[in-house]
Amino acid sequence: MTYKQDKAPVICSFCYKDQNCVEKLIAAPSSAFICNECVDLCTKMIDKYKNSVEDNIEVPLPYKIKQILDEYIIGQEEAKKILSVAVFNHYKRITNNNINDDIEIEKSNILLIGPTGSGKTFFAKILAKILNVPFIIADATSLTEAGYVGEDVESMLHKLLQSADYNLDSAQKGIIYIDEIDKIAKTSENRSISRDVSGEGVQQALLKLIEGSSISLPQKMQKKGQDNSIMNTKDILFICGGAFSGLDEIIKESDSSKIGFKSEAIINESKSQDIDIKHLVKFGLIPELVGRLPVLAKLHKFDKEALIMIMRDTKNSIIKQYSSLFSLSNIKLNFTEDAMEFVAEESMKRNTGARSLKSVLEQIFLEHFFALREDSKHELLINRDYLESNKKAKKANN
Ligand code: ADP
Repeated sequence: MTYKQDKAPVICSFCYKDQNCVEKLIAAPSSAFICNECVDLCTKMIDKYKNSVEDNIEVPLPYKIKQILDEYIIGQEEAKKILSVAVFNHYKRITNNNINDDIEIEKSNILLIGPTGSGKTFFAKILAKILNVPFIIADATSLTEAGYVGEDVESMLHKLLQSADYNLDSAQKGIIYIDEIDKIAKTSENRSISRDVSGEGVQQALLKLIEGSSISLPQKMQKKGQDNSIMNTKDILFICGGAFSGLDEIIKESDSSKIGFKSEAIINESKSQDIDIKHLVKFGLIPELVGRLPVLAKLHKFDKEALIMIMRDTKNSIIKQYSSLFSLSNIKLNFTEDAMEFVAEESMKRNTGARSLKSVLEQIFLEHFFALREDSKHELLINRDYLESNKKAKKANN
């Protein structure tokens, strides 16, 4: 047995094992010690506690969900309202499923329609964050007709399980965002866009997955010592998204056939309530799948003003992110309003919504990050004049 200077034995204060019997003993400022084995045990106990806390999903009321969405998401008011209510109802349903045994509330998965960069993925991500549930992004084009027995679905569910730290209960209450659902639409004679002819089979497979199936995961996808072999998707919230380009024309066509009726969709871009099952079926989705996506929200293209607000005003806005990155290197970023206008105009030219803001800004800041030196300490002023002359100089060099 080993002794400290005062001759007290060096033992773990929790399990009383001598330091020679364990790999490592950690000393506290007092005369207490803990061994690596007790640390492992404590970590497991804490994880178990955390998981049980996480299993109890706190569901804020819809107006509260909307308030949090407002902090991160600019505009898209109609979609925010629709999604706040849908997500509230979904999680209320799965957290109180024994309240009235006679009534089984059906799951309502969500369909988000909006152009690239309108925030479909972002919405899904923020909602998962608000509810603190596991979240993954998948792509409909990677699904095959083999569907729910195929490798693709298994790996999708495995990713969700991983994001739940292999807690099966928690994974089964997570959110899966399936992007590009419009790309698995059936090809129809009326439409010129060529699509995968196997669209219908893939949609059938997706249908089974989102309405609820038990899927067994292969051994290699499970964590040792845990039985996660069968995952049920009935309580997973599926949010499907797609640009559905051409859908507005379908709505216009079908509405203009109603004599004397002129919906807003004809004058303007369509709204969520203008979109009907028949429009989506005409686009190429099978009616059963549309039926399983009863919550529909339309996201709109951003104008210049909205892009500036996205850049500047959200809780985690890109300009705030760059400012803190620069300040870590002792640079005070002064990005003027007219510079933001310039960035918004450049982004609009790229036609990829808010997505291009990041790439335009990345190009602007590249040289300034590269110019950083150990002793850098100054203010970096970026205004419209600077950006315009920079653009001209680049053009001249090309
Ligand atoms: P989509 O999935 O529709 O193609 P994304 O969700 O990937 O679009 O959007 C790209 C990025 O643009 C997001 O990561 C987010 O930073 C930003 N963004 C999009 N819409 C908004 C919005 N309404 N408010 C704030 N930021 C947004």
